[in-house]
Amino acid sequence: MQFYCLKCRAKKELEKFEETVMKGRMGERRAAKAICPDCGTKLFRILGKVEKPAEEPKSEKQETEQKTEEKTEQEDKQEAQEELKKESDDFDEI
Ligand SMILES: [Zn+2]
Repeated sequence: MQFYCLKCRAKKELEKFEETVMKGRMGERRAAKAICPDCGTKLFRILGKVEKPAEEPKSEKQETEQKTEEKTEQEDKQEAQEELKKESDDFDEI
């Protein structure tokens, strides 16, 4: 995986990296983190949105129910719209 080290100002092709999940306002994002072999700086690279497998049982999603943005893009549109009504205060960006 290619990282960019700000200290070396150079691209680094690293085989050793760790995948992690970053939680932000826009939802969860996959990221890769590594350490520059030359200067020891932590390198981060955002990989993209976390795509949840469709087979995942719905009962487990209850804890992450606030994140309706991802749902609207996918299957349960009606369900998501009802959630939006409840939480309309939080969605002034839409
Ligand atoms: Zn470096």
